[in-house]
Amino acid sequence: MSDAHDSAADAPMFAAAAWRLTAFEADLTARVRELARTRFAPRAAEFDANATFPTANFADLRAHGLLGVCVPRAYGGLGADYRSYALAAAEIGRYCGATALTFNMHVCSCLWSGALADALEMSADQRSEHERRRARHYARIVHDGAIYAQPFSEGGSAAAGAVAFATVARRDGHGWRLRGRKIFASLSGHADYYGVLCTETVDDARLSRRHTLYVAVPAGADGVRIEGDWDPLGMRGTVSRTLVLDDVWVGDDEALMPSGLYYQAATRWPHMFLTLTPTYLGIAQAAFDFTVRYLRGEVPGQRGEKRRQVAVKQHAVATMRIMLEQTKALWFQAVSEACIDPSREQVSRAHCAQYAVMENANELCRQAIRTCGGQSMLKDLPLERLYRDSRCGALMLPWSADLCIERIGRDALYLEGEQDP
Ligand SMILES: Cc1cc2nc3c(=O)[nH]c(=O)nc-3n(C[C@H](O)[C@H](O)[C@H](O)COP(=O)(O)OP(=O)(O)OC[C@H]3O[C@@H](n4cnc5c(N)ncnc54)[C@H](O)[C@@H]3O)c2cc1C
Repeated sequence: MSDAHDSAADAPMFAAAAWRLTAFEADLTARVRELARTRFAPRAAEFDANATFPTANFADLRAHGLLGVCVPRAYGGLGADYRSYALAAAEIGRYCGATALTFNMHVCSCLWSGALADALEMSADQRSEHERRRARHYARIVHDGAIYAQPFSEGGSAAAGAVAFATVARRDGHGWRLRGRKIFASLSGHADYYGVLCTETVDDARLSRRHTLYVAVPAGADGVRIEGDWDPLGMRGTVSRTLVLDDVWVGDDEALMPSGLYYQAATRWPHMFLTLTPTYLGIAQAAFDFTVRYLRGEVPGQRGEKRRQVAVKQHAVATMRIMLEQTKALWFQAVSEACIDPSREQVSRAHCAQYAVMENANELCRQAIRTCGGQSMLKDLPLERLYRDSRCGALMLPWSADLCIERIGRDALYLEGEQDP
């Protein structure tokens, strides 16, 4: 397999001085890039071919302390903030999309219960209870190497944020009883805990998004089942099969956020949904890097044959570079301004960034194949995998490409609360 990279094409995606990264960001991204380049890239083709979970990569992430990348320092983690994590995750996506995407599901369990929760409103009692509970989750991750998944999709409109989750949690003693079914549960069969989003039933009232509960379900709990096959077009290493929760009891302490707090997070910290983009930004970079190396005759097995002399190829590379730079600049700005209670303009820019990354990653892969030619898409080269993986980005809810377009247009044309007569 020819996933090796030469040094010229492996410069940092965001050079520390040029993008004014903090010392922490520069160090973290450098370490993560080296790990992904040397360990994840050579394995990517195999996980893709067999549609198997990148267990070896997660072992490496654990060995390097990266499972706890967004666990606050006070709990033994690296304490990376939102942007530092996003920059590091993009470097993983560059070398193995499926690893970056599944790692994101795991990291969200720390980011949402950590830095995000810290910014949200809670009563003093709620906060101290949350501190106690998250300490348990973080200890599992930091000390035991536990891996968390993030299954919220159900096949209806809930994952899009339009209605309450149909997976329900009913109070039962000092805990809840969960019933429901989650599709595309990435890390299925490989996670130790599933960070499930479900709706708490309150008396006989209709299910409400305000009662969304975010709770960790141990993989081995009674009533947890994984169903269905997994043989998709792209992102094959994510192993996103169906998770069935059949009357599963979980204790109060499994709550990853206090009741009702997820709803506050989703409405006040919307950039939480932008964390799927680093994976695909990394893929966009990889498609460009590959094209340059291929046309320069530097891809292993090419015998040094250069294909860069033709003007049309130079032109194509130029348009790819422009698209990549536009995408990275917009993404960097959106990620940099993530905060609680962002302005409407900032939220709209985040939607633009999501759309641009997801669509442009696929477009850059398409252009890379068109520019490099037929031999470049043979299966012993990574480009055709990048192309297939990149196709999945626009489908990711709640900020799918369609939904971003809908919101960007509406927010530009209507003021807050404004309606047509
Ligand atoms: C590789 C991969 C890994 C994934 N991993 C996870 C995971 O770990 N956890 C998880 O929860 N999910 C995961 N997903 C699922 C993903 O986020 C979506 O939920 C899923 O792709 C939706 O599939 P669907 O067939 O139900 O499409 P639909 O939801 O029917 O979407 C089809 C189209 O309809 C649009 N649409 C959907 N709802 C609305 C609406 N209310 N209003 C307007 N337009 C709408 C969408 O934008 C989309 O373009 C993963 C998906 C993939 C491809």
